[in-house]
Amino acid sequence: MKAVQYQEVGGKPVVVDVPEPEPGPGQVLLKVTAAGVCHSDIAVMSWGEDEMYMPLPLTLGHEGAGTVAALGDGVTGVEVGESVAVYGPWGCGRCVMCAQGEENYCLVAQQEGIFPPGLGAPGAIAEYLLVDNARHLVPLDGLDPVTTVPLTDAGLTPYHAIKQALPRLVPGSTAVVIGTGGLGHVGIQLLRALSPARVVALDVNEEKLELARRVGAHEALLSDGAAAGRIRELTGGRGAQGVFDFVGVQPTVDLATAVAGVESDVLIVGIGGGAAKVGFGVTAYDAAVRAPYWGSRSELVEVLDLARAGAIDVHVETYSIDEAPKAYERLHDGKVNGRAVILP
Ligand code: NAD
Ligand code: ZN
Repeated sequence: MKAVQYQEVGGKPVVVDVPEPEPGPGQVLLKVTAAGVCHSDIAVMSWGEDEMYMPLPLTLGHEGAGTVAALGDGVTGVEVGESVAVYGPWGCGRCVMCAQGEENYCLVAQQEGIFPPGLGAPGAIAEYLLVDNARHLVPLDGLDPVTTVPLTDAGLTPYHAIKQALPRLVPGSTAVVIGTGGLGHVGIQLLRALSPARVVALDVNEEKLELARRVGAHEALLSDGAAAGRIRELTGGRGAQGVFDFVGVQPTVDLATAVAGVESDVLIVGIGGGAAKVGFGVTAYDAAVRAPYWGSRSELVEVLDLARAGAIDVHVETYSIDEAPKAYERLHDGKVNGRAVILP
């Protein structure tokens, strides 16, 4: 079967032919219907030898949807032919975090060699995907896999971050979204669906700001040296109560903490290597800074329910599997508007 792999540190993603996997005991084989392309893959492919902890070659793609093609011995609860989305942050299934459905925060995954598909285990940008356990599958129940597959990360991750800040996002509050790409353009819609906050979106690219406005941002501003001042002005000097940084480089982390008001939540979601300076007299009183990772299985169920209710419209660009390297190139160059989705 065809698969898109990152084969060696410093290389580029390539389309290769690999053996079609067979489900072992407890595993489920999916015929992939759609797979999303995330900026985290670009980060992984920028790591040096010393940082790369995933076994290579790696089949990419940690946003996956498919139809159940075959079941390994002992699998119950899913039917061949069922259309499903894959919950990606696989954990051990037994530790105290996994017991709460928060496999994204599994305490032992890495030491037990458990990796998400596309981030260590063979990923979804392939004709078939092997899923380790049926508990990682969420029924799509009528949702279109192409526009839904980004919700498994570009929806779930902002959802998990926004949930932390919701108690602060009351009427009259302001939420700031920095970076309105794959995650950010869904994050804006989640904020609009879940809170009455005024949403201010920031990006460095006019086209993305246009998309931000279209999906519900009240204000969309260029992310530059003047942005913090404009947000202060817009909020009458109060600052924001929820700040979501979907870039995570030093300038955006600095901007995020600068616009955070008293008793605010700052969520650094982007993995651009920036770090926040927090302290008395440095940040506003009682501003909390967190760096969340992905989301829980129950949150994915909630995000899909929100999509079913018509609250989320994911903007997608679609590519064939042969075009996947081009999709990565465009994402790297900041040219993808919304989310790139591969149709293997
Ligand atoms: P993307 O490329 O689709 O979107 C990034 C957006 O940020 C683009 O619109 C780009 O124009 C904009 N941008 C770049 N520099 C900027 C700046 N200085 N100010 C404002 N905007 C700027 O990427 P994505 O797939 O949405 O991922 C966003 C980030 O989130 C990445 O760092 C990714 O690795 C990370 N991520 C983190 C998690 C997590 O669990 N923490 C999960 C998924 C993705
Ligand atoms: Zn666990």
